[in-house]
Amino acid sequence: MKFRHLVFLGPPASGKGTQGRRLAKENHLAYLSTGALLRSALRDDTPLGQKARSFLDRGEYVPDEIMIPMVLEWVGKQGDGWLLDGFPRTVPQVEALDSLLEVKPLAIILHVSNDELRRRVACRLECVECHRVAREGEGELCPECQGKLEPREDDAAENFGNRLDEYRRLVIPAVTYYCDQQRARIVNGMGSPDEVYARVRG
Ligand code: AMP
Repeated sequence: MKFRHLVFLGPPASGKGTQGRRLAKENHLAYLSTGALLRSALRDDTPLGQKARSFLDRGEYVPDEIMIPMVLEWVGKQGDGWLLDGFPRTVPQVEALDSLLEVKPLAIILHVSNDELRRRVACRLECVECHRVAREGEGELCPECQGKLEPREDDAAENFGNRLDEYRRLVIPAVTYYCDQQRARIVNGMGSPDEVYARVRG
């Protein structure tokens, strides 16, 4: 992978976390999942968690005024390469990130059918400690850090519908922006994690 600045976009449960983590690890890129960061903040009841809670509880996106400075600060502290999972999610987020960088990021967009997203979300678990994604039936503890595996609260069926709506309303214009600038790679996200990873790696 010749790119050192990568952003992963895709609807909820499209595999951003699974694929992004693996690609970051194999290429020695710093990795940030904004969703995982927010869930940790909620769990620890930090000031960020208190600001974000009502949005996550409703399946809505956290406002740009909160997200943009937080992620730009993180990016500013990174050295050689990084991968963002779940940021940017709006056109102002794309523009803010671009304005910070001389070498613009490549966007990897995971495409998965709605039926498959619903199937995945119904049996998805996440480690409460390291946020690794798992599936029901894989046991109760994270194979990597032994943290507890639990369903995500925002994966509840009603909430999930809102998150899909938010994706269409806000992220699709961001995807279009990257496509127009020829900085997007749309990847078929259907199939096993290994099959998808082979396509992601290219
Ligand atoms: P994810 O783990 O990527 O599915 O994100 C979970 C939730 O965190 C989303 O549904 C949003 O409420 C919030 N979130 C994560 N990243 C962003 C972002 N870049 N902009 C706004 N909200 C975000």
